[in-house]
Amino acid sequence: MSQLIHLIYSSAATRPFSRDDLTQLLVRSRRNNQRCEVTGMLLYANGSFFQILEGESKTVDELFGRIMKDERHKQVTQIIREPIAKRSFADWTMGFADITPQEADAIVGANDFFGKGQSFTQLGQGRAKKLLAAFKQGRWRAKLSGTTPATAETAIPVQPTSCPEYSFAYQPIIDARTREVFSYEALIRGRDGEPSAYLLRQVSTSDMHRFDEQSRTVAIELAARMGLSTHLNLNFLPLSLESSPTAITSIVSAARRYDIRPEQVVLEILERELVNDFDRFKASVNKHRGSGLSFAIDDFGAGYAGLNLLAEFQPDYIKLDMHLVRNIERSGPRQAIVRGILRTCLDLGIDIIAEGVETKEEYEWLRNEGIELFQGWLFAKPAFERLPRTFHLPH
Ligand code: C2E
Ligand code: MN
Ligand code: MN
Repeated sequence: MSQLIHLIYSSAATRPFSRDDLTQLLVRSRRNNQRCEVTGMLLYANGSFFQILEGESKTVDELFGRIMKDERHKQVTQIIREPIAKRSFADWTMGFADITPQEADAIVGANDFFGKGQSFTQLGQGRAKKLLAAFKQGRWRAKLSGTTPATAETAIPVQPTSCPEYSFAYQPIIDARTREVFSYEALIRGRDGEPSAYLLRQVSTSDMHRFDEQSRTVAIELAARMGLSTHLNLNFLPLSLESSPTAITSIVSAARRYDIRPEQVVLEILERELVNDFDRFKASVNKHRGSGLSFAIDDFGAGYAGLNLLAEFQPDYIKLDMHLVRNIERSGPRQAIVRGILRTCLDLGIDIIAEGVETKEEYEWLRNEGIELFQGWLFAKPAFERLPRTFHLPH
């Protein structure tokens, strides 16, 4: 059997990395590393990489072999490779060490790794932690001319826990006909407004359903305390329906507790989640239709099930995936697809919400085709712990 090891190395980037480059690198490597069960972290500071890889020796050695050949790295220096008793990192994560904490806030999932200190201090005592501290102090950085030492060290800490601290931002969904707020979508955030991806990543798979259920109750309570009088859209993991019989009843009772009518609550289920276990989903939803809740399919048209999903299940709303919305005024194929969806929904009595609308041109095209409900930065961004009453709606 292969043995658990960690391998720590430093290298120099062959070209400067922008934050976009790094974000892309992060997304891609996380996907790969997750698949082969490699955990650890990558820090980047002024042209230097410092990486800790943890995993089965064979997998880690192979990965390191690929990194040594990777044209993005030069001066690859192996600092340590040794067996370990257990992993220090629960996931694979990546840090940026050359940006300010303010800039870090703008990056999905980024956090002040060393500054806020949580993840760093929670890291078990051991070599990985000592070496990270050394890197922070400027050691193991490849020498690149013209670079100054980093000041702020930032990274993405990832520790699965059953209860990270969280709150909600609310984004209005506008009725263009009445020019009023039709609903607010509750979007989960970290305690200090950190993005949803950052937060959801901290919840381990086994805790996800319980977390999802609890957090919806909090979203309802917070909205009620802020005086919600419109609809409230809540995101929902459909698998919760099977794993927890209280997934829906808990929403109904939370709503009742805070004087929200079940008719005000719209549950959003991702199209891509629906394709997995459709029959079971349909059965549970139909069982709960009587409670007064309504259902929306989120990110509809993102390329999973498509229109034939509607042959099996007719939600109250569909939310057009924002990729279909993007630049629709210039794209013939998108226009054709959206017209097809519109026609079908009209025939079936399903309302369409256009999501992620960013420009006046997108809005005008969609509005002209008859869409009435809109959500997007053009009108209002999600507001942390607020129900924004004002928004921008072009005439
Ligand atoms: P979603 O449900 O499709 O939510 C819409 C996402 O689009 C939100 O991102 C929102 O901030 C963003 N958005 C809104 N308007 C625009 C726009 O004009 N342009 C662009 N580019 N983006 C816009 P957010 O808050 O990061 O959430 C991402 C996803 O995370 C959500 O996608 C949803 O699937 C999931 N999520 C968020 N909150 C929760 C939650 O409380 N529970 C569950 N289960 N999932 C959640
Ligand atoms: Mn949603
Ligand atoms: Mn969506």
